[in-house]
Amino acid sequence: MVDATAVETAPILPPSSANFSAHVPVLVVGGGGCGLTAALAASQAGAEVLVLERDASALGTTAMSTGLIPGANTRLQRERGIVDSPELFAADIVQKAKGQTDQGIALALARESARTIEWLIDDHQVPLSLVDSFLYPGHSVMRMHGSPNRTGSELMGSLAAACERRGIDVLTEAQVTELFADAGTGVVRGARLRRPDGSTEDIGCDALVLACCGFAGNEAMVRQYIPEIEGATFFGHPGNKGDAIRWGLALGAAVRDIHSYQGHGGLAAGRGIPILWPLIMEGGFQVNVHGRRFSNEARGYSEQAVEVVAQPGHVAWDVYDARLHRLMLEFDDYRDAVEARAVLSADSVVALAALAGIDASGLAATVAEVAALVKSGEADAWGRRFAGKPPLAAPYYAVKVTGALFHTQGGLAVDPEGRVLREDGSALPNLFAGGGAARGISGPSSWGYMAGNGLLTATTFGRLAGEAAARQVAHG
Ligand SMILES: Cc1cc2nc3c(=O)[nH]c(=O)nc-3n(C[C@H](O)[C@H](O)[C@H](O)COP(=O)(O)OP(=O)(O)OC[C@H]3O[C@@H](n4cnc5c(N)ncnc54)[C@H](O)[C@@H]3O)c2cc1C
Repeated sequence: MVDATAVETAPILPPSSANFSAHVPVLVVGGGGCGLTAALAASQAGAEVLVLERDASALGTTAMSTGLIPGANTRLQRERGIVDSPELFAADIVQKAKGQTDQGIALALARESARTIEWLIDDHQVPLSLVDSFLYPGHSVMRMHGSPNRTGSELMGSLAAACERRGIDVLTEAQVTELFADAGTGVVRGARLRRPDGSTEDIGCDALVLACCGFAGNEAMVRQYIPEIEGATFFGHPGNKGDAIRWGLALGAAVRDIHSYQGHGGLAAGRGIPILWPLIMEGGFQVNVHGRRFSNEARGYSEQAVEVVAQPGHVAWDVYDARLHRLMLEFDDYRDAVEARAVLSADSVVALAALAGIDASGLAATVAEVAALVKSGEADAWGRRFAGKPPLAAPYYAVKVTGALFHTQGGLAVDPEGRVLREDGSALPNLFAGGGAARGISGPSSWGYMAGNGLLTATTFGRLAGEAAARQVAHG
């Protein structure tokens, strides 16, 4: 439970103080992946909808992401002969979170995940394909679906185009600063937005969807709730200031898993480019400046952020070879890292160490140790097994990385339709949330984040919340 008095709540104003210039049945705050998905779903369900986005373009964290969305038992999986089910997916989510998440919500999202993927492809022309070249930590089978270049900017481009086709208005440079709600009942009547020139406008609504993500862009809240990651590089969307949580608390909503976040242990140092985890999962590893490993990198990239930040200089090096280099070229981000000269390569381990500025004898010993682990199939001191992947072979590669905070996973308690809940489990009358604004499915810390948890909750809660909001306004 979050102490509401410890968080600076955001203002809720009495509806009598509003000067509504327009009214829409469904109002969405935030134009990232969740907001645009919610808007598409609400519009398709027959509701008029307006999206308010603080930035000049609707991009959010989603556009910075790799854009990979998990779906269980999609037709794309079946076409590849992959056997999956919502139950298996939910079990993976719950296991990664060590059982410390809402299992009902995890199953509900897993059950709806395939529908979201196929709905995005079929109804909204989002060009998703199955990512079948590697398995992310925690997933039993390949179930990630991504755009052709595996980028969130492509995903956002497709969602924006779909909104345009449906005639959905996305008002940019419209930062919501206050909500209007009835004091006794908590019914939300509208929102006040502020323009860059300081002018304001009040928009009335019948239902409100909070899709303005979490609080990773709010330094004070990060310091208060997740101090362990404060020293890491922030590589998320700076406009996400925790507004949904602060309004929710002011309206009496429950907040869960406030200490939970998505970290990343592989942000190319000084370049701000994520070096994705397939490199690790397919046999690469991380060393510090002494050339020595320091953790089980394969547990997951999120929990690896604090491990990397704890190393000398807060940095580590991903170490791999040409086989993994070729695999990584599938990703736009990696190609950017090559272009930015973040990727080093050399014909020998000693030469690579010299290029990277790592202790050469330490690195040589580590490469030999990993080769021995590949051969023996035994687990290392941290429990990682390298069996099944070929040992590294010349030429060798390295990228200097640091730990990063991507986005927060704690948020408003919601039911399976994205309705915001109070502490007693009752739903607020007409308030919905999804994506980073809602409580995630990653447990209470960083180690519960399984790849895909972010966009699963953004797109599936977005769709469900949009549909539910439209149903509610249709029935009065
Ligand atoms: C580098 C990186 C890679 C990632 N890769 C993946 C991946 O492959 N798969 C995955 O599942 N997840 C991934 N994630 C996580 C994923 O991007 C997020 O979980 C997801 O984008 C959150 O979506 P959202 O719509 O809730 O928030 P956002 O996309 O951040 O959208 C929120 C929007 O709300 C706006 N906003 C905020 N406050 C206000 C306000 N007061 N008024 C108006 N507008 C407001 C913001 O400007 C923003 O545009 C990644 C994250 C990063 C950083």
